[in-house]
Amino acid sequence: MARVLQPFEFIEAAGVKEAVAALSQPGTRLFAGGCDLVPAIRRGQVRYDTLVSIMKIEGLSEFSSHPKVGVKIGAQVLLSRLVNDIWVGKRWAALHEAVEQLYPPHIRNMGTVVGNLCAAVNYYDVPVSMFAHRAVLTLSDGTTSREVGIDDFYTGGRGTAVGAGEMVTQIDLPPPAADAGSAFKKIYKARRRADDLHKINAAAYVALDEAKEKITDATLVIGCVGDSPLRITAAESALVGQVAGDEAFNSAAEMAVAAVQPMTDAGWVEEIRSDWIRILARDVLAQAASRALSRHDPAEDAHLAY
Ligand SMILES: Cc1cc2nc3c(=O)[nH]c(=O)nc-3n(C[C@H](O)[C@H](O)[C@H](O)COP(=O)(O)OP(=O)(O)OC[C@H]3O[C@@H](n4cnc5c(N)ncnc54)[C@H](O)[C@@H]3O)c2cc1C
Repeated sequence: MARVLQPFEFIEAAGVKEAVAALSQPGTRLFAGGCDLVPAIRRGQVRYDTLVSIMKIEGLSEFSSHPKVGVKIGAQVLLSRLVNDIWVGKRWAALHEAVEQLYPPHIRNMGTVVGNLCAAVNYYDVPVSMFAHRAVLTLSDGTTSREVGIDDFYTGGRGTAVGAGEMVTQIDLPPPAADAGSAFKKIYKARRRADDLHKINAAAYVALDEAKEKITDATLVIGCVGDSPLRITAAESALVGQVAGDEAFNSAAEMAVAAVQPMTDAGWVEEIRSDWIRILARDVLAQAASRALSRHDPAEDAHLAY
């Protein structure tokens, strides 16, 4: 049965300073698209007296993508903005796939990219892809700002590095190497639903040398296995210098399985979850590498002087 929303005051902040200043009042929360907040309030999981919308603040709607410069995503940018962006599709494929597979799709028209990350929900897909692309978040108090890498953004439970009196104003993704590819995949145990906790998601980034044979850089991330996405750093280091192929990817997948043990979730048969991690880790690495192999056409980038 749908519950009735408890009344709250709704403020449309005109600037970052005003928005974060309002947060000093107890029971106040920032509000972007509301996709996370509204259902949580309706279910009675959280209660706020005041919601401060950031959607009218000037300067937070910037979105740009360029293979030699990177991607900039302002705090108001909706998930749907990424779906039809040609460069995100080509060069930041893991992010593109995470957003494209977001279910149900209409959420993309309301939810922001930044809100997806700030919600700090451990089974969301977009954060996993952001780890693969080594995103950097800009946190601002309206006067000064600081940058926090995605590896340091999640602080445990549903905590983030966003301090009291701060908000995230922008996400930046660095440009990928010339011969690099990325991929994102997920598997649900039963239902194809975003709130199905019995799911695994994974993302990878693979860069190759000029001969397109050996791996020069790699990121492997597994989601839904802890409070926040887990980078399989042992596999990442082991992959560097290896020939991009089954042997390297199978061995990295075993490292991923080992890294997420013990499997503590009672709803899971351990072997199934291990199998899924193994399959997804291998698949995202192989897909990322095949994109790196097939992608680079120098003619494609020739006109991209910036
Ligand atoms: C039915 C449904 C299905 C979904 N399916 C998927 C899925 O398949 N995959 C997936 O990855 N996600 C999924 N999501 C999650 C969805 O993408 C997020 O709920 C949405 O992106 C959150 O963005 P928002 O703008 O609505 O955030 P809000 O709900 O407005 O805010 C979310 C949180 O972030 C904080 N916040 C927002 N902006 C800022 C900021 N600039 N600085 C600091 N804190 C901020 C808010 O205070 C709040 O705590 C689903 C959600 C729903 C409701």
